[in-house]
Amino acid sequence: MNPVSDGYEGQATMESSRPDEGLPGAANDVALSPVSFLHRAADVSGDDIGVRTETGEAVSWARLRTRAEQLSGALRGLGLEAGDRVAVLAPNGLPLLEAHYGVPGAGCALVALNTRLAPQEYELLLRLAEAKVLLVDPSLADKVADAAPRLPALRAVLTLGPGDGAYEDCLRAADPATLRLPADERQPLAVNFTSGTTGGPKGVVYTHRGSYLNALGQVHSTGLRSDSRYLWTLPMFHCNGWCHTWAVTAAGAEHLVLPKVEPERVLDLMEHHRVTHLCGAPAVLDSLVEHGGRRRGRFPQRALFAVGGAAPSPTAIEAMTALGVDIMHLYGMTETYGPSLVCEPRPEWRGFDAPRRASVLARQGVRTVNVESARVVTESFEDVPADGRTTGELIIRSNTVMSHYLDDEEATRAALRGGWLHTGDVAVRHPDGYLEIRDRLKDVIISGGENLSSIEVENALRRHPAVAEAAVVAQPHARWGEVPVAFVRLRDGGEATGEELTDWLRERMAHFKVPRQIHFSDLPKTSTGKVRKAELRNRLQ
Ligand code: AMP
Repeated sequence: MNPVSDGYEGQATMESSRPDEGLPGAANDVALSPVSFLHRAADVSGDDIGVRTETGEAVSWARLRTRAEQLSGALRGLGLEAGDRVAVLAPNGLPLLEAHYGVPGAGCALVALNTRLAPQEYELLLRLAEAKVLLVDPSLADKVADAAPRLPALRAVLTLGPGDGAYEDCLRAADPATLRLPADERQPLAVNFTSGTTGGPKGVVYTHRGSYLNALGQVHSTGLRSDSRYLWTLPMFHCNGWCHTWAVTAAGAEHLVLPKVEPERVLDLMEHHRVTHLCGAPAVLDSLVEHGGRRRGRFPQRALFAVGGAAPSPTAIEAMTALGVDIMHLYGMTETYGPSLVCEPRPEWRGFDAPRRASVLARQGVRTVNVESARVVTESFEDVPADGRTTGELIIRSNTVMSHYLDDEEATRAALRGGWLHTGDVAVRHPDGYLEIRDRLKDVIISGGENLSSIEVENALRRHPAVAEAAVVAQPHARWGEVPVAFVRLRDGGEATGEELTDWLRERMAHFKVPRQIHFSDLPKTSTGKVRKAELRNRLQ
């Protein structure tokens, strides 16, 4: 084995000014890494604005690189080595964006944490990730304060923003270290946690190579260019912002950072900054439609809203299009670095009336340019006919399928069996070759674009002394897409009200996971003892 192919170059070359200096390889073989996108942006257009922060501060590409290099140097100063993991718990902002370069540029892997979780969940994720350093926003610091001393791997917690011992001080004090390309492009770059169907969170490992390819795929799908302005309405913690943390930089476009999605503010920013691109879950699209509908006129510029994470409604697509914003529908999973299907508009659709165009756009589409193959197959692995009716499981093969689940070989083998990623989504193939998701095999509930595992909630309910059995299913919801609803059978002699159980859950998990209703009843079962969830869902119709 090549002596450096399983890691990064050591300290000796860290201070050099060339990111690839000292690495093996040839003129025609350089590791693929999104870190090189920042180097290019800073080298080619260093004085141009790369990022506009939430306070309106303009940050040049050169300055973004310097800050990322300071972060990289600070991590090295803390003794971190190749492969160590650095977690960030923060809303969208400059620190989280620069961590997408400074952390991998130091040879470490980034763990961008969901900002909506409960303290116990953070403790579990930080433990699973064995994070050595945690960067935390002051607004979220209390959620990890108790857990931090209990985490043996954790060496430092740096609070973002100014203040004593804070992140900014640490950057200032650090010796900047050149952002390095990995010796091996298959080196982990990020770990993103998903709440899998088995209830336990799984760490999805992204490589430099996959991130690079998917980011370029996004540049292609959404048409980002150096004069584009991308508004951050998608959390950077969700699949690293569907790889836009890197795609926008690859294009040399401007990142407009936004910590919180408030529809009026989004619409104002779109207008004043002439935003050309933004992304989000259908719930975000719906809220913009609701507020935008009250405005007069269309946006002066051409803008594209890329929607995904769940199926958007044709009505919302049509309404947004009427405001002069084009819709691009994307489908993906954490396991595919975000987007892997795109509903690529066909020239003939221009002749369609608005409702028909919206309904073809509501389909999930075709594979993105970086995906090798996307099939819909029966249980016997045969492709379903392109009739728009026969359903099968969507399976994917791509250089942008995750490397593996962190420390979980069994789950990795199951997900990637037979050389394909099994998405667990049920789809049909239309006569024009476009795919449409009809259902999911798994019972994950998607609320506000975020997945929640029914089993995780059931397990928490079952921990209540009065509860014998529990099943949680999705109920369609106009604003959030879906909300969880629970069915509970109490133990003989057990007593608990819906309110008590709700309080019990609220103490244990993020509030968006807590069922909106709790029904008390026996649970219908199959002959093998499995709860018939479809029947429970039907009860809610
Ligand atoms: P996550 O890993 O949290 O990104 O969730 C992935 C799941 O979200 C997929 O397996 C699908 O069930 C669902 N999903 C993502 N995008 C779409 C979409 N455009 N339409 C329907 N379901 C989607």
